[in-house]
Amino acid sequence: MKLIILGSGTGWIRLDRNSPGYLVEVDDFCLLLDLGPGILKEILRIGKKLEDISAIFISHFHPDHVTDLIPFLFATRYSLGYKRVSPISLYASEDFAYFYNSLKLAFKEWIEPPKGLLDINLLPKLKKNKIFIGPFKAYTSPVKHNPESLAIRLEHQGKSLVYSGDTGYCEELIELSENADLLIIECSNSSGFYVEHHLSPEDIALISERAKVKRIILSHFYPHSENVDLSLIRNKFKGEIILAKDLMEIEI
Ligand SMILES: [Zn+2]
Ligand SMILES: [Zn+2]
Repeated sequence: MKLIILGSGTGWIRLDRNSPGYLVEVDDFCLLLDLGPGILKEILRIGKKLEDISAIFISHFHPDHVTDLIPFLFATRYSLGYKRVSPISLYASEDFAYFYNSLKLAFKEWIEPPKGLLDINLLPKLKKNKIFIGPFKAYTSPVKHNPESLAIRLEHQGKSLVYSGDTGYCEELIELSENADLLIIECSNSSGFYVEHHLSPEDIALISERAKVKRIILSHFYPHSENVDLSLIRNKFKGEIILAKDLMEIEI
């Protein structure tokens, strides 16, 4: 599988790091993990079309992770620059039902795709809940951020990728990441700046070491968190550490 980082930033609007979004590709199947503002344009920038997106996973409903869903649904309903023929599968916590209904109160039918083109899969907030997404065997677990927050593990042909979403330190993420080939892990906090329900380099070190993952990609950078003191991680974690950049591609 191939990972393309579409957005390694946060809700801090900047030119060099888009809000969160990650594309995971196997053959013709493209799974989008989160779609913060600007992600749809990044998909076009890498030469793909919106038709190419087969499924969407939403980790939680903070605006930096979800707001491009609105123009996506609008474009899908009215065939704005693209025409969807096969349904899009959307995966999110069971709380998505309330969230989507609230969006429809605001945007009315403008964001309702034609019948049969949106397949919503509501996921229970259970540890290692198993699902199938196209060619992937996947597992989701609740993580310590918002009530609806889920992290996801994708497996294909013996390889595994985990996406933490936003989270604080929690056992659920460690269990989900066990022996993963690659862990995309949020890096919002720095030594001098700590917000609860996000991770610091020390947290990342402990999670990665305890889960025995092979490689990690630090992402979800704020300006204050991106000059990471890697020695704080290397103290504990001996695997490869990659610093995410927008449009970076990684083979897993
Ligand atoms: Zn975020
Ligand atoms: Zn968040």
